[in-house]
Amino acid sequence: MLFVDIDRLKKINDSLGHGAGDQLLVEAASRFDSCLRPGDTVARLGGDEFAILLDDIRDAAHVSEHVNEVAGRVQKELERPFVLEGREVFVTVSIGVAPCRGGDQRPDELLRNADTAMYRAKSLGRARHEVFDATMHQRAVKMLELETDLWRAIERDELLLHYQPIISLQNGQICGYEALVRWQHPARGLVPPMEFIPLAEETGLVVPMGWWVLREACHQARRWSRQFEGETPHFMAVNLSSQQFSQTDTIERVRAIVAETGVNPHHLKLEITESVIMENSESAAAMFLQLKELGIRFSMDDFGTGYSSLSYLHRFPLDTLKIDRSFVSQMRPDSKNEIVNTILSLAGGLSLSVVAEGVETPAQLENLRAMGCGFAQGFFFSKPLEAEKIEELLSQNPTW
Ligand code: C2E
Ligand code: MG
Ligand code: MG
Repeated sequence: MLFVDIDRLKKINDSLGHGAGDQLLVEAASRFDSCLRPGDTVARLGGDEFAILLDDIRDAAHVSEHVNEVAGRVQKELERPFVLEGREVFVTVSIGVAPCRGGDQRPDELLRNADTAMYRAKSLGRARHEVFDATMHQRAVKMLELETDLWRAIERDELLLHYQPIISLQNGQICGYEALVRWQHPARGLVPPMEFIPLAEETGLVVPMGWWVLREACHQARRWSRQFEGETPHFMAVNLSSQQFSQTDTIERVRAIVAETGVNPHHLKLEITESVIMENSESAAAMFLQLKELGIRFSMDDFGTGYSSLSYLHRFPLDTLKIDRSFVSQMRPDSKNEIVNTILSLAGGLSLSVVAEGVETPAQLENLRAMGCGFAQGFFFSKPLEAEKIEELLSQNPTW
């Protein structure tokens, strides 16, 4: 049993209309058909999902080769361009394969196994096929548990924010913070974001979660700006996921949170990754500019690790590049790092400021200063801390 899901059909429906989406499905169905033998069955299960039953494979010893071959053929066939309303459109498919154990296996179980394997194929980056095994099922059950817990996490107030100081290398003082989400799980303890953000992205939960984070961080920024009135205001940096950027009400959301919390939008910085630009280019550019008009600034997070085209730097007038930790950690005490240096001169030419992420040693700090990097963040200065701990830190007026 092959469970086939057309990746990103929704994108086509949303951009070219449902007529084009229907046309694609019809064409896809006939392409599936062309990959099969007369006795095989192809069915549409609904939406963008199809099932293919490879019946009566005689050559038992070579089942997996045969299936791999068919899955490969289906993928290749679907990768040829579709012409929809005069436009060439490209799609990929994710395929889950479930072998049938024998006559006693229930059809719905077979279908579920193939579906589970298809999800695995999707989570491994789409446009591929995966064969079901029992560990996938256990994994799926665990993910489902985590997903249920994550839904409740927002309702039950289990999310919290830590703040990591960002330091101006000009005067060695704290000039802002990055808000980083944590999950206080009732049984697992404090769960780091890398363990639940990917799941939150997969399930769409990252959207409500992201708005919660933005609201909470803005509240905190407002509290601190009252508390430390008269001093140079610190900025608050908040990570925005690419899905938050693809919502139609993003601008209203941000505007409402700014109004509700009373935060000065000039003190707010949104951190986006290159995937925001890659996945939503046109509408993202428009939203981006509207948010900039509100006075909000933007950082490109993990710069240099994602999409390689630099052309977006013109369409998305950013304020800051954040040099990814992986480049900073490669810096040797005795020499300049060419990648860091190149990012700094690129940023200089585009009048962008630069934050070096993941600074862990005094030597890295000295090097970055010598190279003219404006800002830094990392365990050397401070780990991400709860709000009260940040206040304690500030009261010591630390200077690096
Ligand atoms: P990021 O935005 O690049 O955040 C920086 C990460 O680097 C944080 O990990 C921080 O604790 C870690 N870090 C900072 N300094 C050092 C250092 O000197 N050494 C090392 N080894 N690590 C350092 P964290 O908090 O685990 O967050 C990981 C990622 O999760 C973030 O990477 C961000 O992409 C994502 N994330 C965190 N909070 C949110 C959120 O509210 N929304 C979204 N969409 N993503 C978030
Ligand atoms: Mg960040
Ligand atoms: Mg980063």
